Amino acid sequence: MKQVTNGYIGDRVLKLNVGFLLAAGPGHSHETEFDVPRMRISDDVDLAFLRGPLRLSRTKEGILVQGDLQLGIEDECYRCLKPIERELEVSIEELYAYPDPNDSEFSIDEDAMLDLAPLIRAEAIIADARGALCQPDCKGLCPQCGRNWNDGPCDCGADIDSRFAKLKELLDKN
Ligand SMILES: [Zn+2]
Ligand SMILES: [Zn+2]
Repeated sequence: MKQVTNGYIGDRVLKLNVGFLLAAGPGHSHETEFDVPRMRISDDVDLAFLRGPLRLSRTKEGILVQGDLQLGIEDECYRCLKPIERELEVSIEELYAYPDPNDSEFSIDEDAMLDLAPLIRAEAIIADARGALCQPDCKGLCPQCGRNWNDGPCDCGADIDSRFAKLKELLDKN
């Protein structure tokens, strides 16, 4: 195990020095393989893991990043809020522009660093927006007493209708 702060490694592993590839010129490529444990990629996204191959290809406009990555997303069930880990397969194909940063949403800075974190973060957030359940028939929390109905019914008198009213309220808030 790596020694890490707060159980997470930083996102430095996602900053790739591509100076050699920029210098090599169009037509050259480089392959790398990620197998990274718990990682904080931004203030709002933590990954449980990141795995998979990545190919960097030098083009005239910059570097094309292609890969089939597996992301472990730390999430919570949207009904009962139980922490869950989701595994997502994401195919990425994105141009990191160089030297003209206007050629793409992503670009390589003057130190020849290609930062994958914003791209991975965007993929994670898109996936997260779909919401996840701890189990397909998660019963959620009692809106009155907060009991997790997966553990059995409560005796506070709340019924299914108030549960849906509460869910709607939560959805409206979001
Ligand atoms: Zn749940
Ligand atoms: Zn209750």
